[in-house]
Amino acid sequence: MLQVPDKIQTWQMVQPTSKDKETGEVKPGRLEKTSIPVPTLAADEVLVKVAGCGVCHTDLGYFYDGVPTVQKPPLTLGHEISGTVVAGDEKWMGKEVIIPAVMPCRKCLLCKTGRGNRCLVQKMPGNSLGVYGGFSSHIPVPSIDLCEVRNRGNIPLEHLAVVADAATTPYQAAKRADLQPGDNVIIIGVTGGVGVYMAQTVKALGAKAVIGIARNPAKLQRALQYGADFVISSQDKQIKDIRNEFRDICKKNGLEAGFGWKIFEVTGIKAGQDMALELLSFTGKLIVVGFGMAKNEYMLSRLMAFDADILGTWGCLPEYYPIVLNMVLSKKIDIGPFTETRPMSQIASVFDEVHKAGSPEKRIVLTPDF
Ligand SMILES: [Zn+2]
Ligand SMILES: [Zn+2]
Repeated sequence: MLQVPDKIQTWQMVQPTSKDKETGEVKPGRLEKTSIPVPTLAADEVLVKVAGCGVCHTDLGYFYDGVPTVQKPPLTLGHEISGTVVAGDEKWMGKEVIIPAVMPCRKCLLCKTGRGNRCLVQKMPGNSLGVYGGFSSHIPVPSIDLCEVRNRGNIPLEHLAVVADAATTPYQAAKRADLQPGDNVIIIGVTGGVGVYMAQTVKALGAKAVIGIARNPAKLQRALQYGADFVISSQDKQIKDIRNEFRDICKKNGLEAGFGWKIFEVTGIKAGQDMALELLSFTGKLIVVGFGMAKNEYMLSRLMAFDADILGTWGCLPEYYPIVLNMVLSKKIDIGPFTETRPMSQIASVFDEVHKAGSPEKRIVLTPDF
């Protein structure tokens, strides 16, 4: 029996991040448990009962760093959502779904030319979908973009929330890179929340050699079981040492070191980006997947001399979600070891924990317990 609630229970960010003009001190936002009315659903909308919503660094950017949300607070954060349709469009009733993190308008020129993942009027829960976000009991969303979950076996629906963002962003990045079977790949930040899926994705798509770079040696060992063929620890090393290790790996394994590598920079931090720029070589491609505020110095003319590319990538087209979901359900991409759930009532302490940890052990998915 599907229960349609009277109210949506939610953890709202009621106050935006503020910066003290004199001291420059940033005060994070404030969370408050509250309830809001269930809106009247349009014909093409449904109400989804949230099973889980992942905590993403983008949420923390809004909460701690003053990155502005399109919808001004109060609003509910959270854009990595799975759940069950409980009201609205009849043909979706009772279905388990993943809600894409960004939902394109499908009308503009970008949408019509295949660039809908970067549609300028796209809707994102917890940012630009009115006051609605995933850290709630329910959320109203357009039905056209939903990805239906079928035959999920023993994978909990709440774990599949990570498909909404962490596991789909790498697929879009691989498409953007025009990744082909037999391509050689470097992933900088291979042990992070998106990096672990980047490696599994490129391997599943037929990459030949995948070299993972990150700091933590123990996590790098784990990466070898999940998509990476070789790993390099960047801990306490100069860029030139890392480049030499890369060349050694190529030499020992009969790989061409000098050209053609596709490099995915997932960290968004300056050290990772500088490394990516250093490793970019003839006919190579650098795909910028991570976000940070750093500025880098680079001789752009190298791109000319190398006949190389630097590309950005954003979100993921809803059309790709069923493909990624299939890769997850068929265990080509394993999410279990990288996901853990916590009750949503712990949201404040989880935000704090993830914010302090920088790169936590596992993606934390909050499950509603209102
Ligand atoms: Zn995100
Ligand atoms: Zn559009």
